[in-house]
Amino acid sequence: MIILAHHYQADDVFRFADFSGDSLKLSQQAADQKDAEFIIFCGVYFMAEVARMLCEPTQKVILPDISAGCSLADYANYQQVSECWAVLSDKLAGKKIVPITYINSSAEIKAFCGKNDGAICTSGNADRVLRWAFETGDVVLFLPDQHLGRNSSYRMGIGLEQMLVYNPELREGGLTETIADDVKMILWNGCCDIHMQFTVDDIRRVRSEYPEAKIIVHPECKFDVVKLSDLAGSTEFIIKHIAQSRESVWAVGTERDMVSRLAKQYEGEKTIFNLSRSEPYCPMMKQSSPAKLLWVLDNIADGNVVNEVFVDEQISIDSKAALQRMLELRR
Ligand code: SF4
Repeated sequence: MIILAHHYQADDVFRFADFSGDSLKLSQQAADQKDAEFIIFCGVYFMAEVARMLCEPTQKVILPDISAGCSLADYANYQQVSECWAVLSDKLAGKKIVPITYINSSAEIKAFCGKNDGAICTSGNADRVLRWAFETGDVVLFLPDQHLGRNSSYRMGIGLEQMLVYNPELREGGLTETIADDVKMILWNGCCDIHMQFTVDDIRRVRSEYPEAKIIVHPECKFDVVKLSDLAGSTEFIIKHIAQSRESVWAVGTERDMVSRLAKQYEGEKTIFNLSRSEPYCPMMKQSSPAKLLWVLDNIADGNVVNEVFVDEQISIDSKAALQRMLELRR
């Protein structure tokens, strides 16, 4: 048995982890532990789904709280994305559309991308996956986080005027006009409610109170926040960059528990604090409480498996096609 914990878990659960990391790293870790019959994933549902897809059928993936979802992943469901695909296929007739989904999405959305010659990306490799997508096709449909899509494609030289937002709540996603010929990105109208809480005012305040501080944020933050920061990158990037940098004062724009753990880790050596005074935290991540972790462990000890995560076989096959395309881009 192994216990995995995402960086956003609170300390009272994180301390029990055999492995910690971001969602993909943890899933790969789980897949490498072939001897582990039980994989307890202290994270949210889509992460456990990815682990389920990558692990052996004999391994059991368990979430301490089966209702721990991700509000970002919930922004896009299969029905909405299918409707969007029909709208875009009509409006962009003659152009090849490549669907790319951030790994923070449901297995159904990953499968949709797999079936339609698309791929999955993470916050650590979105640039590489998008480069491949633009080599392969004409227009990218980026799901479900508009901010990661906008921030990543802007960094590659795509102008804001070449991006449109598809809002599933509106008729034809709000794209009722003819889509201009130079549009390259269709961004799904989703966001991480936690990273949305970092603002330009936070950056201005930190720059004035701590002129020596470097500001590093997650690319799920809004465009202006990322643009005004010194650096942006995935949780793994943030951790590695702070470890390797000579800079000693850091304001970090990501989830509360990861930042406070970094602050403790470097106490006396570096000053690390949250970019926002309100220290945004992800309540879904905290659903894996110590009591729930103990409950699933007690059940295993008694020979019961509770809160096991399953993925439909065909969805798993299609999702893995999208995942495989991403993994091949590492080579
Ligand atoms: S921090 Fe945001 S993207 Fe991550 S699990 Fe929470 S809601 Fe989802």
